[in-house]
Amino acid sequence: MCAQGAGSHDAEYGGVVPGVYPSTNYRRGADGTTPEGDVYSRDDNPTYLPAERLIAQLEGGEQALLFSSGMGAVAAVIEGLPPGARVLCTEQMYWGTTAALQRWEARDEIRLERLPNPDSATFIEALERSLAVAKADLVWLESPANPMCAVIDLEAAGSVARRHDSVLAVDATLAGPVYVRPLEWGADLVMHSASKQLNGHGDVIAGAVVTRDKEAPLWSRIHEVRHLQGSVLGPFEAWLLMRGLRTLPLRAQAAAATALELATRLDTHPGVTHVMYPGLPHHPDHSIAMRQYSDGFGALLSIRVAGGFAAAQAVARSTDLFVDATSLGGPESLIEHRAPVEGPDSTTPVDLLRLSIGLEDVDDLWEDLSRALARGR
Ligand SMILES: *Cc1c(COP(=O)(O)O)cnc(C)c1O
Repeated sequence: MCAQGAGSHDAEYGGVVPGVYPSTNYRRGADGTTPEGDVYSRDDNPTYLPAERLIAQLEGGEQALLFSSGMGAVAAVIEGLPPGARVLCTEQMYWGTTAALQRWEARDEIRLERLPNPDSATFIEALERSLAVAKADLVWLESPANPMCAVIDLEAAGSVARRHDSVLAVDATLAGPVYVRPLEWGADLVMHSASKQLNGHGDVIAGAVVTRDKEAPLWSRIHEVRHLQGSVLGPFEAWLLMRGLRTLPLRAQAAAATALELATRLDTHPGVTHVMYPGLPHHPDHSIAMRQYSDGFGALLSIRVAGGFAAAQAVARSTDLFVDATSLGGPESLIEHRAPVEGPDSTTPVDLLRLSIGLEDVDDLWEDLSRALARGR
Protein backbone atom coordinates (compact mmCIF):
# COMPACT_ATOMS: atom_id res chain seq x y z
CA MET A 1 0.00 0.00 0.00
CA CYS A 2 1.24 3.45 -0.90
CA ALA A 3 0.31 6.56 1.10
CA GLN A 4 2.11 9.01 -1.19
CA GLY A 5 0.59 11.19 -3.88
CA ALA A 6 -3.14 11.82 -3.74
CA GLY A 7 -2.68 15.46 -4.73
CA SER A 8 -0.12 16.09 -2.01
CA HIS A 9 2.38 18.09 -4.10
CA ASP A 10 2.43 21.85 -4.35
CA ALA A 11 1.39 22.87 -7.88
CA GLU A 12 2.36 26.54 -7.54
CA TYR A 13 6.05 26.18 -6.62
CA GLY A 14 6.59 22.53 -7.43
CA GLY A 15 7.30 21.69 -3.81
CA VAL A 16 7.42 17.95 -3.14
CA VAL A 17 5.81 18.75 0.19
CA PRO A 18 2.83 21.11 0.07
CA GLY A 19 2.75 24.22 2.24
CA VAL A 20 0.43 25.24 5.06
CA TYR A 21 -2.38 27.55 4.00
CA PRO A 22 -3.65 29.37 7.07
CA SER A 23 -5.94 31.95 5.44
CA THR A 24 -9.46 31.96 6.87
CA ASN A 25 -10.99 33.68 3.82
CA TYR A 26 -10.52 34.12 0.06
CA ARG A 27 -10.48 37.29 -2.02
CA ARG A 28 -13.21 37.73 -4.61
CA GLY A 29 -12.33 39.02 -8.07
CA ALA A 30 -14.24 41.52 -10.20
CA ASP A 31 -16.77 38.85 -11.15
CA GLY A 32 -17.41 38.10 -7.48
CA THR A 33 -15.82 34.61 -7.55
CA THR A 34 -12.65 33.24 -5.92
CA PRO A 35 -9.96 31.31 -7.90
CA GLU A 36 -10.78 27.89 -6.39
CA GLY A 37 -14.36 28.62 -5.44
CA ASP A 38 -13.38 28.72 -1.77
CA VAL A 39 -14.94 31.43 0.33
CA TYR A 40 -14.20 30.65 3.96
CA SER A 41 -11.99 28.05 5.66
CA ARG A 42 -14.75 26.58 7.81
CA ASP A 43 -15.85 24.86 4.57
CA ASP A 44 -12.73 24.39 2.46
CA ASN A 45 -9.07 24.86 3.07
CA PRO A 46 -6.31 23.83 0.65
CA THR A 47 -4.31 22.28 3.52
CA TYR A 48 -6.93 19.81 4.62
CA LEU A 49 -8.24 18.80 1.21
CA PRO A 50 -5.16 16.63 0.35
CA ALA A 51 -5.42 14.85 3.72
CA GLU A 52 -9.13 14.20 3.15
CA ARG A 53 -8.47 12.87 -0.35
CA LEU A 54 -5.71 10.61 0.89
CA ILE A 55 -7.77 9.17 3.78
CA ALA A 56 -10.68 8.54 1.38
CA GLN A 57 -8.32 6.77 -1.02
CA LEU A 58 -6.72 4.65 1.74
CA GLU A 59 -10.19 3.52 2.90
CA GLY A 60 -11.49 2.94 -0.62
CA GLY A 61 -14.25 5.52 -0.09
CA GLU A 62 -15.63 8.30 -2.27
CA GLN A 63 -15.03 11.14 0.14
CA ALA A 64 -13.62 11.90 3.60
CA LEU A 65 -14.23 14.80 5.96
CA LEU A 66 -11.84 15.86 8.70
CA PHE A 67 -13.04 17.02 12.09
CA SER A 68 -11.36 18.70 15.03
CA SER A 69 -11.30 15.41 16.98
CA GLY A 70 -12.49 11.82 16.82
CA MET A 71 -15.37 12.75 19.13
CA GLY A 72 -16.21 15.65 16.80
CA ALA A 73 -16.49 13.08 14.00
CA VAL A 74 -18.77 10.85 16.12
CA ALA A 75 -20.92 13.88 16.96
CA ALA A 76 -21.29 14.85 13.29
CA VAL A 77 -22.58 11.37 12.38
CA ILE A 78 -25.12 11.35 15.24
CA GLU A 79 -26.21 14.95 14.65
CA GLY A 80 -26.75 14.05 11.01
CA LEU A 81 -29.47 11.54 12.01
CA PRO A 82 -33.16 12.47 12.19
CA PRO A 83 -34.49 13.42 15.66
CA GLY A 84 -35.33 10.33 17.73
CA ALA A 85 -33.23 8.12 15.44
CA ARG A 86 -32.92 4.45 16.32
CA VAL A 87 -29.23 3.67 16.93
CA LEU A 88 -27.78 0.23 17.62
CA CYS A 89 -24.22 -0.05 18.90
CA THR A 90 -21.65 -2.42 20.31
CA GLU A 91 -21.97 -2.70 24.08
CA GLN A 92 -18.22 -2.84 24.72
CA MET A 93 -16.30 -0.10 22.91
CA TYR A 94 -14.38 3.13 23.51
CA TRP A 95 -15.90 4.47 26.74
CA GLY A 96 -16.07 8.03 25.38
CA THR A 97 -18.33 7.00 22.47
CA THR A 98 -20.59 5.06 24.83
CA ALA A 99 -20.81 8.05 27.18
CA ALA A 100 -21.61 10.42 24.29
CA LEU A 101 -24.31 8.09 22.87
CA GLN A 102 -25.88 7.72 26.32
CA ARG A 103 -25.93 11.49 26.68
CA TRP A 104 -27.80 11.87 23.35
CA GLU A 105 -30.17 9.15 24.52
CA ALA A 106 -30.80 10.92 27.85
CA ARG A 107 -31.66 14.07 25.88
CA ASP A 108 -34.13 12.05 23.74
CA GLU A 109 -32.17 12.82 20.60
CA ILE A 110 -31.68 9.12 19.81
CA ARG A 111 -33.14 5.80 20.91
CA LEU A 112 -30.16 3.64 21.79
CA GLU A 113 -29.83 -0.12 21.99
CA ARG A 114 -26.48 -1.63 22.99
CA LEU A 115 -25.81 -5.11 21.65
CA PRO A 116 -23.40 -7.55 23.34
CA ASN A 117 -20.09 -8.04 21.50
CA PRO A 118 -18.02 -10.56 23.46
CA ASP A 119 -17.50 -12.22 20.07
CA SER A 120 -18.69 -11.67 16.54
CA ALA A 121 -21.39 -14.38 16.38
CA THR A 122 -23.11 -13.07 19.53
CA PHE A 123 -23.18 -9.54 18.11
CA ILE A 124 -24.42 -10.58 14.65
CA GLU A 125 -27.23 -12.66 16.20
CA ALA A 126 -28.29 -9.77 18.43
CA LEU A 127 -28.13 -7.39 15.45
CA GLU A 128 -30.28 -9.71 13.33
CA ARG A 129 -32.84 -10.02 16.14
CA SER A 130 -32.97 -6.29 16.81
CA LEU A 131 -33.25 -5.29 13.15
CA ALA A 132 -36.02 -7.86 12.61
CA VAL A 133 -38.10 -5.84 15.10
CA ALA A 134 -37.41 -2.48 13.43
CA LYS A 135 -34.85 -1.05 11.08
CA ALA A 136 -32.18 1.22 12.56
CA ASP A 137 -31.18 4.66 11.34
CA LEU A 138 -27.64 3.74 12.29
CA VAL A 139 -25.69 0.67 13.35
CA TRP A 140 -22.51 1.86 15.04
CA LEU A 141 -19.85 -0.69 15.78
CA GLU A 142 -16.26 -0.69 16.84
CA SER A 143 -13.94 -3.41 15.60
CA PRO A 144 -11.63 -4.26 17.18
CA ALA A 145 -13.22 -2.82 20.29
CA ASN A 146 -11.24 -0.65 22.66
CA PRO A 147 -9.86 -2.12 24.95
CA MET A 148 -11.17 -5.72 24.82
CA CYS A 149 -10.03 -6.28 21.20
CA ALA A 150 -13.28 -8.06 20.20
CA VAL A 151 -13.49 -8.35 16.41
CA ILE A 152 -16.68 -8.30 14.35
CA ASP A 153 -17.32 -9.98 11.02
CA LEU A 154 -17.85 -6.78 9.02
CA GLU A 155 -19.08 -8.66 5.97
CA ALA A 156 -21.85 -10.30 8.02
CA ALA A 157 -22.71 -7.03 9.80
CA GLY A 158 -22.81 -5.23 6.44
CA SER A 159 -25.12 -7.76 4.85
CA VAL A 160 -27.51 -7.84 7.86
CA ALA A 161 -27.62 -4.02 7.95
CA ARG A 162 -28.21 -3.80 4.18
CA ARG A 163 -30.99 -6.40 4.30
CA HIS A 164 -32.74 -4.27 6.93
CA ASP A 165 -32.15 -0.98 5.12
CA SER A 166 -29.92 0.35 7.92
CA VAL A 167 -26.72 2.40 7.68
CA LEU A 168 -23.59 0.71 9.03
CA ALA A 169 -20.82 2.88 10.50
CA VAL A 170 -17.58 1.41 11.82
CA ASP A 171 -15.19 3.10 14.23
CA ALA A 172 -12.00 1.61 12.81
CA THR A 173 -9.56 3.59 14.95
CA LEU A 174 -7.93 0.45 16.35
CA ALA A 175 -7.43 -1.11 12.92
CA GLY A 176 -6.51 1.53 10.39
CA PRO A 177 -6.79 1.17 6.62
CA VAL A 178 -3.46 -0.65 6.36
CA TYR A 179 -4.97 -3.63 8.19
CA VAL A 180 -8.74 -3.48 7.55
CA ARG A 181 -10.88 -1.43 5.15
CA PRO A 182 -14.48 -1.70 6.42
CA LEU A 183 -16.04 -0.11 3.30
CA GLU A 184 -14.75 -3.07 1.27
CA TRP A 185 -16.62 -5.42 3.62
CA GLY A 186 -19.94 -3.62 3.37
CA ALA A 187 -19.84 -0.66 5.77
CA ASP A 188 -21.36 2.64 4.63
CA LEU A 189 -19.24 4.91 6.81
CA VAL A 190 -15.85 4.58 8.49
CA MET A 191 -14.87 6.80 11.37
CA HIS A 192 -11.37 7.38 12.75
CA SER A 193 -9.84 9.11 15.65
CA ALA A 194 -6.99 10.42 13.50
CA SER A 195 -5.32 11.43 16.77
CA LYS A 196 -4.18 7.81 16.92
CA GLN A 197 -2.37 5.78 14.24
CA LEU A 198 -3.36 7.88 11.18
CA ASN A 199 -1.37 10.85 12.45
CA GLY A 200 0.78 8.49 14.45
CA HIS A 201 3.03 10.92 16.27
CA GLY A 202 1.01 11.84 19.34
CA ASP A 203 0.91 15.52 18.40
CA VAL A 204 -2.47 16.13 16.70
CA ILE A 205 -6.08 15.74 17.84
CA ALA A 206 -8.20 15.03 14.75
CA GLY A 207 -11.09 12.92 13.48
CA ALA A 208 -12.26 11.66 10.10
CA VAL A 209 -15.36 10.13 8.56
CA VAL A 210 -15.22 8.42 5.17
CA THR A 211 -18.23 7.51 3.03
CA ARG A 212 -18.68 4.75 0.51
CA ASP A 213 -21.27 6.84 -1.34
CA LYS A 214 -21.01 10.61 -1.38
CA GLU A 215 -24.59 10.90 -2.67
CA ALA A 216 -25.99 9.19 0.46
CA PRO A 217 -28.48 11.49 2.28
CA LEU A 218 -26.74 11.01 5.65
CA TRP A 219 -23.44 12.12 4.09
CA SER A 220 -24.80 15.48 2.98
CA ARG A 221 -26.23 16.01 6.47
CA ILE A 222 -22.83 15.17 8.06
CA HIS A 223 -21.31 17.74 5.71
CA GLU A 224 -23.94 20.26 6.77
CA VAL A 225 -23.30 19.57 10.47
CA ARG A 226 -19.61 20.35 10.01
CA HIS A 227 -20.46 23.52 8.11
CA LEU A 228 -22.96 24.76 10.70
CA GLN A 229 -21.45 23.45 13.94
CA GLY A 230 -17.92 24.21 12.88
CA SER A 231 -15.93 21.25 14.21
CA VAL A 232 -13.16 21.75 11.64
CA LEU A 233 -9.48 20.93 11.85
CA GLY A 234 -6.93 23.76 11.82
CA PRO A 235 -4.60 23.95 8.79
CA PHE A 236 -1.47 23.34 10.87
CA GLU A 237 -2.97 20.18 12.35
CA ALA A 238 -4.07 19.06 8.87
CA TRP A 239 -0.54 19.60 7.61
CA LEU A 240 0.92 17.52 10.46
CA LEU A 241 -1.68 14.82 9.81
CA MET A 242 -0.64 14.71 6.17
CA ARG A 243 2.98 14.34 7.23
CA GLY A 244 2.04 11.45 9.51
CA LEU A 245 0.00 9.75 6.79
CA ARG A 246 3.02 9.56 4.45
CA THR A 247 4.61 6.91 6.66
CA LEU A 248 1.41 5.16 7.79
CA PRO A 249 1.94 1.82 6.00
CA LEU A 250 5.50 1.41 7.32
CA ARG A 251 4.57 2.42 10.86
CA ALA A 252 1.48 0.21 10.86
CA GLN A 253 3.33 -2.86 9.61
CA ALA A 254 6.26 -2.44 12.01
CA ALA A 255 4.05 -1.84 15.07
CA ALA A 256 1.82 -4.81 14.22
CA ALA A 257 4.80 -7.15 13.82
CA THR A 258 6.11 -6.08 17.24
CA ALA A 259 2.63 -6.35 18.79
CA LEU A 260 2.20 -9.92 17.51
CA GLU A 261 5.62 -10.94 18.84
CA LEU A 262 4.94 -9.40 22.28
CA ALA A 263 1.43 -10.92 22.41
CA THR A 264 2.92 -14.34 21.64
CA ARG A 265 5.58 -14.00 24.35
CA LEU A 266 3.11 -12.60 26.92
CA ASP A 267 0.79 -15.54 26.26
CA THR A 268 3.09 -17.89 28.18
CA HIS A 269 4.18 -15.43 30.86
CA PRO A 270 3.22 -16.69 34.34
CA GLY A 271 2.19 -13.20 35.51
CA VAL A 272 -0.32 -12.79 32.68
CA THR A 273 -3.70 -14.55 32.79
CA HIS A 274 -5.16 -13.36 29.46
CA VAL A 275 -3.80 -11.84 26.26
CA MET A 276 -6.34 -10.19 23.97
CA TYR A 277 -5.06 -9.71 20.44
CA PRO A 278 -6.78 -10.65 17.15
CA GLY A 279 -3.52 -12.12 15.83
CA LEU A 280 -3.36 -14.88 18.45
CA PRO A 281 -4.86 -18.25 17.43
CA HIS A 282 -6.93 -18.44 20.65
CA HIS A 283 -8.62 -15.06 20.07
CA PRO A 284 -12.35 -15.94 19.83
CA ASP A 285 -12.54 -14.48 16.30
CA HIS A 286 -9.05 -15.20 15.03
CA SER A 287 -10.44 -16.89 11.91
CA ILE A 288 -12.48 -13.77 11.05
CA ALA A 289 -9.42 -11.62 11.68
CA MET A 290 -7.38 -13.87 9.36
CA ARG A 291 -9.87 -13.19 6.59
CA GLN A 292 -10.46 -9.52 7.31
CA TYR A 293 -6.97 -8.21 8.10
CA SER A 294 -3.91 -7.78 5.95
CA ASP A 295 -0.39 -6.60 6.82
CA GLY A 296 -0.80 -7.33 10.53
CA PHE A 297 -3.38 -7.41 13.30
CA GLY A 298 -2.93 -3.94 14.69
CA ALA A 299 -0.74 -2.19 17.23
CA LEU A 300 -3.00 -2.50 20.25
CA LEU A 301 -3.32 -5.41 22.64
CA SER A 302 -4.65 -5.86 26.15
CA ILE A 303 -3.49 -8.16 28.90
CA ARG A 304 -4.91 -9.16 32.24
CA VAL A 305 -2.41 -9.72 34.99
CA ALA A 306 -2.44 -12.07 37.96
CA GLY A 307 -3.05 -10.25 41.26
CA GLY A 308 -6.00 -8.01 40.35
CA PHE A 309 -6.30 -4.22 40.49
CA ALA A 310 -3.24 -3.61 42.66
CA ALA A 311 -0.95 -5.74 40.51
CA ALA A 312 -2.16 -4.06 37.31
CA GLN A 313 -1.57 -0.64 38.80
CA ALA A 314 1.89 -1.65 40.02
CA VAL A 315 2.88 -3.02 36.60
CA ALA A 316 1.71 0.13 34.79
CA ARG A 317 3.76 2.24 37.18
CA SER A 318 6.85 0.04 36.95
CA THR A 319 7.76 0.30 33.28
CA ASP A 320 10.61 2.45 32.03
CA LEU A 321 10.36 2.25 28.24
CA PHE A 322 6.55 1.85 28.03
CA VAL A 323 5.10 5.23 28.98
CA ASP A 324 2.21 5.14 31.47
CA ALA A 325 -0.14 7.35 29.46
CA THR A 326 -3.46 7.26 27.65
CA SER A 327 -4.04 7.16 23.87
CA LEU A 328 -2.57 4.86 21.23
CA GLY A 329 -1.02 4.66 17.79
CA GLY A 330 2.09 6.80 18.37
CA PRO A 331 5.81 5.94 17.99
CA GLU A 332 6.22 5.50 21.76
CA SER A 333 4.79 2.37 23.34
CA LEU A 334 2.19 3.17 25.99
CA ILE A 335 0.75 1.20 28.89
CA GLU A 336 -2.47 2.09 30.65
CA HIS A 337 -4.49 0.62 33.50
CA ARG A 338 -7.90 1.12 31.88
CA ALA A 339 -10.59 0.57 34.54
CA PRO A 340 -9.74 3.62 36.69
CA VAL A 341 -9.57 5.80 33.55
CA GLU A 342 -13.03 4.70 32.39
CA GLY A 343 -14.65 5.58 35.72
CA PRO A 344 -17.30 3.94 37.92
CA ASP A 345 -19.50 2.68 35.03
CA SER A 346 -16.61 0.80 33.43
CA THR A 347 -17.09 -2.90 32.75
CA THR A 348 -13.44 -3.35 31.80
CA PRO A 349 -11.76 -5.97 34.05
CA VAL A 350 -9.88 -4.25 36.88
CA ASP A 351 -6.72 -6.24 36.13
CA LEU A 352 -6.59 -5.14 32.47
CA LEU A 353 -3.65 -3.24 31.00
CA ARG A 354 -3.90 -1.78 27.52
CA LEU A 355 -0.68 -1.72 25.53
CA SER A 356 -0.21 0.50 22.50
CA ILE A 357 2.83 -0.77 20.65
CA GLY A 358 5.11 1.81 19.11
CA LEU A 359 8.24 1.63 17.01
CA GLU A 360 10.88 0.65 19.57
CA ASP A 361 12.96 -2.53 19.38
CA VAL A 362 10.90 -5.59 20.29
CA ASP A 363 13.52 -7.01 22.68
CA ASP A 364 13.85 -3.70 24.52
CA LEU A 365 10.06 -3.64 24.95
CA TRP A 366 9.98 -7.25 26.11
CA GLU A 367 12.75 -6.68 28.65
CA ASP A 368 10.88 -3.65 30.01
CA LEU A 369 7.58 -5.53 30.30
CA SER A 370 9.17 -8.62 31.87
CA ARG A 371 10.89 -6.43 34.46
CA ALA A 372 7.65 -4.54 35.23
CA LEU A 373 5.64 -7.79 35.48
CA ALA A 374 8.22 -9.20 37.91
CA ARG A 375 8.11 -6.02 40.01
CA GLY A 376 4.33 -5.91 40.01
CA ARG A 377 3.94 -9.42 41.47
C1 LIG B 1 -9.56 7.88 20.89
C2 LIG B 1 -10.74 7.23 20.34
C3 LIG B 1 -11.87 7.97 19.99
C4 LIG B 1 -11.98 9.46 20.25
O1 LIG B 1 -11.14 10.20 19.43
P1 LIG B 1 -10.49 11.62 19.87
O2 LIG B 1 -9.62 11.97 18.71
O3 LIG B 1 -9.73 11.38 21.14
O4 LIG B 1 -11.60 12.58 20.06
C5 LIG B 1 -12.94 7.30 19.42
N1 LIG B 1 -12.89 5.96 19.20
C6 LIG B 1 -11.83 5.22 19.54
C7 LIG B 1 -11.84 3.75 19.28
C8 LIG B 1 -10.71 5.81 20.11
O5 LIG B 1 -9.65 5.06 20.46
